[in-house]
Amino acid sequence: MLQDKSIKPETTIQLGDSDARASDDRTGRKMLVQVLDALEQGIIFWSDGGRCSLNNDAVFDVLELEKHALQRGSTLVQFLTAGAERGEFTPEQMKTHLSLYAAQKTFCYDATLPSGRTVSASVRPVRDGGHVVAYTDVTAERTVSRSLATAKADAEEAQRRAAEVLQHERARQREASLLAQLDEWLQSCKSLEELYRVVTAFMYKVLPGTQGQLFIYTHGRDVLEQVCAWNSALSETRVTPDSCWALRRGRSYTYHPDELSFVCDHVQEVMSDDVTPDTYTCVPIMAHGDTVGLMHIEFRSEGDNPEVIDSSAFTARCAEHISMAIANVKLRDELQDQSTRDPLTGLYNRRYFLDELRKELSQTASRQGNFALITLDADRFKSFNDDHGHDAGDAVLEALAEKMLALDAGGLTACRVGGEEFSLIVPNADRTRAGAVIEELRQVVEDMRVKYIGGPLPKVTISAGVSIYPTHGTDPQGLIKAADVALYEAKDAGRNCWRVADSHSNIMF
Ligand code: GH3
Ligand code: MG
Ligand code: MG
Repeated sequence: MLQDKSIKPETTIQLGDSDARASDDRTGRKMLVQVLDALEQGIIFWSDGGRCSLNNDAVFDVLELEKHALQRGSTLVQFLTAGAERGEFTPEQMKTHLSLYAAQKTFCYDATLPSGRTVSASVRPVRDGGHVVAYTDVTAERTVSRSLATAKADAEEAQRRAAEVLQHERARQREASLLAQLDEWLQSCKSLEELYRVVTAFMYKVLPGTQGQLFIYTHGRDVLEQVCAWNSALSETRVTPDSCWALRRGRSYTYHPDELSFVCDHVQEVMSDDVTPDTYTCVPIMAHGDTVGLMHIEFRSEGDNPEVIDSSAFTARCAEHISMAIANVKLRDELQDQSTRDPLTGLYNRRYFLDELRKELSQTASRQGNFALITLDADRFKSFNDDHGHDAGDAVLEALAEKMLALDAGGLTACRVGGEEFSLIVPNADRTRAGAVIEELRQVVEDMRVKYIGGPLPKVTISAGVSIYPTHGTDPQGLIKAADVALYEAKDAGRNCWRVADSHSNIMF
């Protein structure tokens, strides 16, 4: 603390006893006042006791003070308190200044005057005690240095933003290139199964920090089944549409453990009640306006791909691309089906049959094996239609197709080649194997009772002709002809039976 030793202002410049000395001192003081008044800076001498012992006139201009604000004998404490009240510095800064004065330190500080000008105060202790303070108007310098600092900060900020934009742009390009790679793979997929394999491998590689599953609606559309998964994701393998918020709301849903959001039932069901899952996203897979599936992805912090900035947004984009690819493959499959399938029975049509027969022929020829062609025809179907109606006849044709598809003959291809005529291609079959297949079918059909409005329909039988490659033909026409001839033989023999081409065993039932 400053001690008030009641040093009178007059005592600050000692006058000598003798007249000569007094005269010298007066001259010295006069010169000092002249020097001080010539300075631009405001100067105050504070005595050891903290009172103003001398000041120049410039101090009033520099500090924008009225004359009465500072007089000989004014105390430093009063002077600084008034400065703090004018807002030139804070009361805390004032305390610091006073303690520095008391400690006889050299120090500087800036004061901001009410007019906005800045004055720098430079405080120095003097040898015999007390301080001299020089006040300099530094408004211009401070404005320049502030502008320089602002300009520097602006430049740094602009540089930081540019780097950020560049980093984002690079990441966007890398993401775009990853999506382009995904597209290329997806577009070259021939089937959904192949597509699911590509999705698994791609997601596993590109987002190693995620666990995920892809679900597709079953035919009944009451449940979605897992078709592929990566990194063993934690959700059911069968999902009902109402157990997922994304499917219920018809748009992507992201669960964040730290936010107000709810866990989907299909996720919660595989976890114990007190465990909350990590952040995950469910994205509906849309194809031509219909929801065909769901992609479920959980995000783990470790193992993130540094090339991907926002995994969640990138996942959504991947899901969009996968959706489009699924839609395309489904459309292609549907078109393919329309051109190769019979709409009533779902069996392959005549066109497909001919292609498949040619294919089977060349494959079997190359491995020097054999296969069977079975042509079969419903017996007396015209009169069945006449008696029970065409729709009842259709129901029987559908039931016949089902029985053919249920046959346990590896790789068998069943086709509807005409109205009530069908063809079966049985790979790796000699006459014994072919006989076993057609006999099984003949019996199943004979025992079959098709339910129809108004009760079960009467039994329907089939007759069949069998030709074996290469025994009965080495080209499609030859094999078809041989099987047809055998079929006529079976019809001639009384129907509900089958014959092998050029066979004279005359199996009768
Ligand atoms: P067969 O034992 O000699 O084969 O006697 P069939 O009456 O079956 O022989 P035919 O070839 O004279 O008659 C075939 C009948 O099959 C004619 C037609 O009414 C019926 N048919 C063909 N296509 C369909 C179809 O898509 N639906 C129905 N319900 N009947 C069909
Ligand atoms: Mg017939
Ligand atoms: Mg016929």
